[in-house]
Amino acid sequence: MAGYGVPRRPSIPDPARLAGQLLAWYDRHRRVLPWRAPRGAAPDPYRVWLSEIMLQQTTVAVVGPYFRRFVARWPDLGSLARASLDEVLHAWQGLGYYARARNLHACAQAVAARGGRFPADEAGLRELPGIGAYTAAAVAAIAFGARTAAVDGNVERVMARLYAVRTRLPEAKPRLRDLAAALVPAARSGDYAQAAMDLGATVCTPVKPKCGLCPWRAACRAHALGIAEILPRRAPKKAKPQRHGVAFWAVNAKGAVLLRRRPEKGLLGGMMEVPSTAWRATPWSEAEAKRAAPFRARWRRVPGAVRHGFTHFDLELEILAARVNGRRAPGLWVAPGRIKDQALPSLMKKVIAAASR
Ligand code: SF4
Repeated sequence: MAGYGVPRRPSIPDPARLAGQLLAWYDRHRRVLPWRAPRGAAPDPYRVWLSEIMLQQTTVAVVGPYFRRFVARWPDLGSLARASLDEVLHAWQGLGYYARARNLHACAQAVAARGGRFPADEAGLRELPGIGAYTAAAVAAIAFGARTAAVDGNVERVMARLYAVRTRLPEAKPRLRDLAAALVPAARSGDYAQAAMDLGATVCTPVKPKCGLCPWRAACRAHALGIAEILPRRAPKKAKPQRHGVAFWAVNAKGAVLLRRRPEKGLLGGMMEVPSTAWRATPWSEAEAKRAAPFRARWRRVPGAVRHGFTHFDLELEILAARVNGRRAPGLWVAPGRIKDQALPSLMKKVIAAASR
Protein backbone atom coordinates (compact mmCIF):
# COMPACT_ATOMS: atom_id res chain seq x y z
CA MET A 1 0.00 0.00 0.00
CA ALA A 2 1.32 3.45 -0.86
CA GLY A 3 2.31 5.49 2.21
CA TYR A 4 0.49 8.68 3.19
CA GLY A 5 1.64 11.60 1.03
CA VAL A 6 3.33 9.46 -1.60
CA PRO A 7 1.83 10.42 -4.98
CA ARG A 8 0.07 7.61 -6.75
CA ARG A 9 1.90 6.51 -9.89
CA PRO A 10 -0.75 5.89 -12.53
CA SER A 11 -0.30 2.85 -14.65
CA ILE A 12 -0.17 3.84 -18.31
CA PRO A 13 -2.97 2.19 -20.30
CA ASP A 14 -2.15 0.17 -23.36
CA PRO A 15 -1.07 2.13 -26.46
CA ALA A 16 -4.28 1.42 -28.40
CA ARG A 17 -6.37 2.93 -25.60
CA LEU A 18 -4.17 6.05 -25.38
CA ALA A 19 -4.25 6.49 -29.16
CA GLY A 20 -8.04 6.09 -29.13
CA GLN A 21 -8.38 8.74 -26.40
CA LEU A 22 -6.21 11.17 -28.32
CA LEU A 23 -8.03 10.58 -31.62
CA ALA A 24 -11.44 11.06 -29.94
CA TRP A 25 -10.16 14.35 -28.50
CA TYR A 26 -8.81 15.35 -31.94
CA ASP A 27 -12.15 14.68 -33.57
CA ARG A 28 -13.70 17.29 -31.28
CA HIS A 29 -10.88 19.81 -30.93
CA ARG A 30 -8.70 19.63 -34.06
CA ARG A 31 -7.32 22.98 -35.14
CA VAL A 32 -8.48 24.38 -38.44
CA LEU A 33 -5.24 25.13 -40.30
CA PRO A 34 -4.88 26.39 -43.88
CA TRP A 35 -2.82 23.35 -44.94
CA ARG A 36 -4.94 20.76 -43.19
CA ALA A 37 -7.36 18.71 -45.30
CA PRO A 38 -11.00 19.11 -44.24
CA ARG A 39 -12.38 16.23 -42.22
CA GLY A 40 -12.85 13.18 -44.47
CA ALA A 41 -10.92 14.69 -47.42
CA ALA A 42 -7.68 13.17 -48.70
CA PRO A 43 -4.63 15.26 -47.80
CA ASP A 44 -2.68 16.91 -50.64
CA PRO A 45 1.00 15.86 -50.30
CA TYR A 46 2.12 19.19 -51.82
CA ARG A 47 0.33 21.22 -49.15
CA VAL A 48 1.46 18.88 -46.36
CA TRP A 49 5.09 19.07 -47.48
CA LEU A 50 4.99 22.86 -48.02
CA SER A 51 3.53 23.47 -44.57
CA GLU A 52 6.01 21.16 -42.85
CA ILE A 53 8.98 22.91 -44.48
CA MET A 54 7.57 26.31 -43.52
CA LEU A 55 6.88 25.18 -39.96
CA GLN A 56 10.50 24.12 -39.35
CA GLN A 57 11.69 26.54 -36.64
CA THR A 58 8.65 28.79 -37.12
CA THR A 59 5.22 29.01 -35.49
CA VAL A 60 1.79 28.23 -36.94
CA ALA A 61 0.75 31.87 -36.47
CA VAL A 62 3.70 33.16 -38.52
CA VAL A 63 3.43 30.51 -41.23
CA GLY A 64 -0.32 30.93 -41.92
CA PRO A 65 -0.14 34.06 -44.16
CA TYR A 66 3.00 32.81 -45.96
CA PHE A 67 1.34 29.48 -46.70
CA ARG A 68 -1.76 31.18 -48.10
CA ARG A 69 0.35 33.45 -50.31
CA PHE A 70 2.46 30.55 -51.57
CA VAL A 71 -0.48 28.34 -52.54
CA ALA A 72 -2.32 31.28 -54.13
CA ARG A 73 0.73 31.95 -56.31
CA TRP A 74 1.95 28.35 -56.75
CA PRO A 75 -1.12 26.14 -56.29
CA ASP A 76 0.69 22.91 -57.12
CA LEU A 77 4.12 21.41 -57.15
CA GLY A 78 4.66 21.96 -60.88
CA SER A 79 4.09 25.71 -60.64
CA LEU A 80 6.51 26.02 -57.71
CA ALA A 81 9.12 23.96 -59.58
CA ARG A 82 8.82 26.34 -62.56
CA ALA A 83 9.28 29.47 -60.43
CA SER A 84 12.73 31.04 -60.26
CA LEU A 85 14.76 30.72 -57.09
CA ASP A 86 14.68 34.51 -56.77
CA GLU A 87 10.88 34.55 -56.78
CA VAL A 88 10.78 31.89 -54.08
CA LEU A 89 13.40 33.62 -51.93
CA HIS A 90 11.52 36.88 -52.30
CA ALA A 91 8.22 35.30 -51.24
CA TRP A 92 10.03 33.66 -48.30
CA GLN A 93 11.36 36.97 -46.92
CA GLY A 94 10.71 37.23 -43.20
CA LEU A 95 10.40 33.49 -42.56
CA GLY A 96 14.14 33.22 -41.88
CA TYR A 97 16.47 30.25 -42.29
CA TYR A 98 16.73 30.83 -46.03
CA ALA A 99 18.43 27.50 -46.67
CA ARG A 100 14.91 26.12 -46.26
CA ALA A 101 13.64 28.23 -49.16
CA ARG A 102 16.49 27.11 -51.40
CA ASN A 103 15.84 23.50 -50.44
CA LEU A 104 12.11 23.98 -50.95
CA HIS A 105 12.75 25.09 -54.51
CA ALA A 106 15.31 22.31 -55.14
CA CYS A 107 12.90 19.74 -53.69
CA ALA A 108 10.01 20.93 -55.89
CA GLN A 109 12.26 20.56 -58.94
CA ALA A 110 13.46 17.11 -57.83
CA VAL A 111 9.88 15.88 -57.32
CA ALA A 112 8.76 17.44 -60.62
CA ALA A 113 11.62 15.57 -62.33
CA ARG A 114 10.27 12.27 -60.99
CA GLY A 115 6.81 12.91 -62.42
CA GLY A 116 5.46 15.25 -59.75
CA ARG A 117 4.74 12.56 -57.16
CA PHE A 118 6.35 12.59 -53.72
CA PRO A 119 7.73 9.28 -52.48
CA ALA A 120 5.23 7.82 -50.00
CA ASP A 121 7.77 6.39 -47.54
CA GLU A 122 10.17 8.03 -45.12
CA ALA A 123 13.32 6.65 -46.76
CA GLY A 124 12.35 8.04 -50.16
CA LEU A 125 11.31 11.39 -48.69
CA ARG A 126 14.60 11.74 -46.81
CA GLU A 127 16.53 11.62 -50.06
CA LEU A 128 14.90 14.89 -51.15
CA PRO A 129 16.50 18.30 -50.42
CA GLY A 130 15.49 19.87 -47.11
CA ILE A 131 13.66 16.82 -45.73
CA GLY A 132 15.11 15.50 -42.48
CA ALA A 133 13.90 12.76 -40.16
CA TYR A 134 11.04 14.73 -38.59
CA THR A 135 9.68 16.18 -41.85
CA ALA A 136 9.90 12.80 -43.60
CA ALA A 137 7.92 11.16 -40.80
CA ALA A 138 5.34 13.98 -40.70
CA VAL A 139 4.78 13.94 -44.48
CA ALA A 140 4.73 10.13 -44.63
CA ALA A 141 2.18 9.95 -41.82
CA ILE A 142 -0.08 12.88 -42.74
CA ALA A 143 0.02 12.68 -46.53
CA PHE A 144 0.35 8.93 -46.97
CA GLY A 145 -0.93 7.36 -43.74
CA ALA A 146 2.41 5.70 -42.87
CA ARG A 147 2.53 4.24 -39.36
CA THR A 148 5.37 6.34 -38.04
CA ALA A 149 5.93 8.86 -35.26
CA ALA A 150 6.73 12.46 -36.20
CA VAL A 151 8.64 13.56 -33.10
CA ASP A 152 9.36 17.25 -32.71
CA GLY A 153 9.84 19.34 -29.57
CA ASN A 154 6.10 19.32 -28.87
CA VAL A 155 5.83 15.56 -28.97
CA GLU A 156 9.01 15.15 -26.92
CA ARG A 157 7.48 17.35 -24.25
CA VAL A 158 4.21 15.41 -24.18
CA MET A 159 6.05 12.06 -23.96
CA ALA A 160 8.39 13.31 -21.23
CA ARG A 161 5.35 14.30 -19.19
CA LEU A 162 3.09 11.35 -19.93
CA TYR A 163 5.82 8.94 -18.79
CA ALA A 164 7.54 11.33 -16.32
CA VAL A 165 10.91 10.95 -18.07
CA ARG A 166 13.43 12.87 -15.96
CA THR A 167 16.49 12.30 -18.14
CA ARG A 168 17.64 15.59 -19.63
CA LEU A 169 17.33 16.50 -23.29
CA PRO A 170 19.07 15.88 -25.62
CA GLU A 171 20.12 12.63 -23.91
CA ALA A 172 16.45 11.63 -23.51
CA LYS A 173 15.66 11.93 -27.24
CA PRO A 174 16.00 8.24 -28.23
CA ARG A 175 13.80 7.14 -25.32
CA LEU A 176 11.15 9.77 -26.06
CA ARG A 177 11.17 8.76 -29.71
CA ASP A 178 10.65 5.08 -28.75
CA LEU A 179 7.80 6.00 -26.41
CA ALA A 180 6.14 8.10 -29.12
CA ALA A 181 6.59 5.37 -31.75
CA ALA A 182 4.96 2.76 -29.52
CA LEU A 183 1.74 4.80 -29.38
CA VAL A 184 1.17 5.28 -33.14
CA PRO A 185 -1.95 3.31 -34.14
CA ALA A 186 -2.18 1.23 -37.29
CA ALA A 187 -5.29 3.08 -38.44
CA ARG A 188 -5.56 6.89 -38.78
CA SER A 189 -1.83 7.37 -38.21
CA GLY A 190 -1.94 10.69 -40.10
CA ASP A 191 -4.69 11.99 -37.84
CA TYR A 192 -2.80 10.67 -34.84
CA ALA A 193 0.35 12.61 -35.89
CA GLN A 194 -1.68 15.80 -36.21
CA ALA A 195 -3.49 15.11 -32.95
CA ALA A 196 -0.17 14.76 -31.11
CA MET A 197 0.98 18.06 -32.63
CA ASP A 198 -2.27 19.77 -31.61
CA LEU A 199 -2.08 18.41 -28.07
CA GLY A 200 1.46 19.74 -27.63
CA ALA A 201 0.59 23.10 -29.18
CA THR A 202 -2.71 23.80 -27.42
CA VAL A 203 -2.97 21.71 -24.23
CA CYS A 204 0.38 20.28 -23.13
CA THR A 205 2.04 23.65 -23.58
CA PRO A 206 5.58 24.42 -22.33
CA VAL A 207 4.24 26.72 -19.61
CA LYS A 208 1.03 26.10 -17.65
CA PRO A 209 -0.16 22.92 -19.38
CA LYS A 210 -3.96 22.68 -19.36
CA CYS A 211 -4.10 19.25 -17.78
CA GLY A 212 -7.81 19.71 -16.98
CA LEU A 213 -8.55 19.60 -20.73
CA CYS A 214 -6.18 16.77 -21.58
CA PRO A 215 -7.42 13.41 -22.89
CA TRP A 216 -4.41 11.73 -21.22
CA ARG A 217 -4.93 13.32 -17.81
CA ALA A 218 -5.85 10.07 -16.04
CA ALA A 219 -2.80 8.29 -17.41
CA CYS A 220 -0.24 11.08 -17.15
CA ARG A 221 2.49 10.42 -14.59
CA ALA A 222 3.85 13.95 -14.53
CA HIS A 223 0.37 15.30 -13.86
CA ALA A 224 -0.13 12.83 -10.99
CA LEU A 225 3.25 13.74 -9.54
CA GLY A 226 2.69 17.50 -10.00
CA ILE A 227 5.90 17.85 -12.03
CA ALA A 228 4.48 18.56 -15.50
CA GLU A 229 5.87 22.10 -15.68
CA ILE A 230 9.45 21.08 -14.95
CA LEU A 231 9.49 18.47 -17.73
CA PRO A 232 11.17 17.95 -20.07
CA ARG A 233 14.44 18.67 -18.31
CA ARG A 234 17.16 20.14 -20.49
CA ALA A 235 20.92 20.34 -20.34
CA PRO A 236 21.98 23.95 -19.62
CA LYS A 237 22.25 26.06 -22.77
CA LYS A 238 25.67 27.08 -23.94
CA ALA A 239 26.10 30.84 -24.34
CA LYS A 240 25.99 31.88 -28.01
CA PRO A 241 29.21 33.37 -29.35
CA GLN A 242 29.16 37.02 -30.39
CA ARG A 243 30.34 38.10 -33.83
CA HIS A 244 31.04 41.54 -35.21
CA GLY A 245 30.98 43.06 -38.69
CA VAL A 246 30.65 46.36 -40.51
CA ALA A 247 28.10 46.98 -43.29
CA PHE A 248 28.77 49.51 -46.07
CA TRP A 249 25.80 51.69 -47.04
CA ALA A 250 26.78 53.24 -50.36
CA VAL A 251 24.35 55.65 -52.08
CA ASN A 252 25.03 56.99 -55.60
CA ALA A 253 24.05 60.32 -57.16
CA LYS A 254 20.63 58.94 -58.18
CA GLY A 255 19.93 57.75 -54.65
CA ALA A 256 20.44 54.07 -55.57
CA VAL A 257 21.96 51.79 -52.96
CA LEU A 258 24.66 49.17 -53.51
CA LEU A 259 23.52 45.61 -52.82
CA ARG A 260 25.16 42.31 -53.65
CA ARG A 261 24.17 38.67 -53.65
CA ARG A 262 25.55 36.35 -50.99
CA PRO A 263 27.17 33.10 -52.16
CA GLU A 264 24.66 30.30 -52.84
CA LYS A 265 26.13 28.05 -50.17
CA GLY A 266 26.23 29.02 -46.51
CA LEU A 267 24.34 31.32 -44.20
CA LEU A 268 21.62 33.40 -45.95
CA GLY A 269 22.83 31.79 -49.18
CA GLY A 270 21.61 33.41 -52.39
CA MET A 271 19.99 36.33 -50.56
CA MET A 272 20.74 39.97 -51.31
CA GLU A 273 22.69 41.99 -48.78
CA VAL A 274 24.26 45.33 -48.02
CA PRO A 275 27.99 44.59 -48.54
CA SER A 276 29.82 43.97 -45.29
CA THR A 277 33.11 42.83 -43.84
CA ALA A 278 33.52 39.26 -42.61
CA TRP A 279 31.67 38.54 -39.36
CA ARG A 280 34.28 37.67 -36.77
CA ALA A 281 34.75 37.28 -33.03
CA THR A 282 36.52 40.62 -32.49
CA PRO A 283 35.09 44.09 -33.24
CA TRP A 284 36.44 45.98 -36.26
CA SER A 285 38.19 49.29 -35.81
CA GLU A 286 36.97 52.00 -38.20
CA ALA A 287 40.32 52.13 -40.00
CA GLU A 288 40.37 48.38 -40.43
CA ALA A 289 36.78 48.35 -41.73
CA LYS A 290 37.54 51.10 -44.26
CA ARG A 291 40.36 48.98 -45.67
CA ALA A 292 37.80 46.14 -46.12
CA ALA A 293 35.22 48.42 -47.85
CA PRO A 294 34.12 47.57 -51.42
CA PHE A 295 35.88 50.78 -52.60
CA ARG A 296 37.57 53.88 -51.21
CA ALA A 297 35.17 56.65 -50.27
CA ARG A 298 34.51 59.12 -47.46
CA TRP A 299 32.92 56.51 -45.20
CA ARG A 300 31.32 57.88 -42.04
CA ARG A 301 29.92 55.94 -39.15
CA VAL A 302 26.12 55.74 -38.76
CA PRO A 303 25.19 56.03 -35.06
CA GLY A 304 23.90 52.87 -33.42
CA ALA A 305 24.51 49.26 -34.39
CA VAL A 306 22.24 46.53 -35.71
CA ARG A 307 21.92 43.40 -33.58
CA HIS A 308 20.61 40.11 -34.85
CA GLY A 309 20.42 36.62 -33.37
CA PHE A 310 21.22 33.63 -35.55
CA THR A 311 20.83 30.06 -34.31
CA HIS A 312 24.50 29.62 -33.51
CA PHE A 313 25.73 33.15 -32.85
CA ASP A 314 24.67 36.72 -32.18
CA LEU A 315 25.79 39.40 -34.59
CA GLU A 316 26.46 43.09 -34.12
CA LEU A 317 26.85 45.09 -37.32
CA GLU A 318 28.18 48.65 -37.33
CA ILE A 319 27.33 50.70 -40.42
CA LEU A 320 29.60 52.95 -42.48
CA ALA A 321 27.83 55.13 -45.05
CA ALA A 322 29.13 57.08 -48.06
CA ARG A 323 27.73 59.08 -50.98
CA VAL A 324 29.51 58.15 -54.19
CA ASN A 325 29.52 59.29 -57.79
CA GLY A 326 29.59 56.91 -60.75
CA ARG A 327 31.41 54.30 -58.78
CA ARG A 328 31.99 50.86 -60.28
CA ALA A 329 31.48 48.19 -57.69
CA PRO A 330 30.73 44.49 -57.73
CA GLY A 331 27.00 44.38 -57.03
CA LEU A 332 23.75 45.97 -58.01
CA TRP A 333 22.72 49.60 -57.60
CA VAL A 334 19.08 49.47 -56.53
CA ALA A 335 16.74 52.47 -56.57
CA PRO A 336 15.11 53.13 -53.19
CA GLY A 337 11.65 52.24 -54.53
CA ARG A 338 12.92 48.83 -55.75
CA ILE A 339 14.66 47.72 -52.56
CA LYS A 340 11.50 46.02 -51.33
CA ASP A 341 11.55 43.82 -54.48
CA GLN A 342 14.87 42.29 -53.46
CA ALA A 343 15.19 39.01 -51.54
CA LEU A 344 16.54 40.53 -48.35
CA PRO A 345 16.83 38.67 -45.03
CA SER A 346 15.56 40.30 -41.83
CA LEU A 347 19.09 41.25 -40.78
CA MET A 348 19.54 43.32 -43.95
CA LYS A 349 16.15 44.94 -43.52
CA LYS A 350 17.35 46.08 -40.10
CA VAL A 351 20.54 47.47 -41.67
CA ILE A 352 18.52 49.33 -44.32
CA ALA A 353 16.17 50.75 -41.69
CA ALA A 354 19.08 51.88 -39.51
CA ALA A 355 21.02 53.40 -42.43
CA SER A 356 17.95 55.19 -43.84
CA ARG A 357 17.01 56.92 -40.59
FE1 SF4 B 1 0.53 17.24 -20.63
FE2 SF4 B 1 -1.00 17.62 -18.48
FE3 SF4 B 1 -1.84 16.08 -20.50
FE4 SF4 B 1 0.11 15.26 -18.90
S1 SF4 B 1 -2.03 15.67 -18.34
S2 SF4 B 1 0.07 15.10 -21.13
S3 SF4 B 1 1.17 17.17 -18.50
S4 SF4 B 1 -1.43 18.32 -20.57
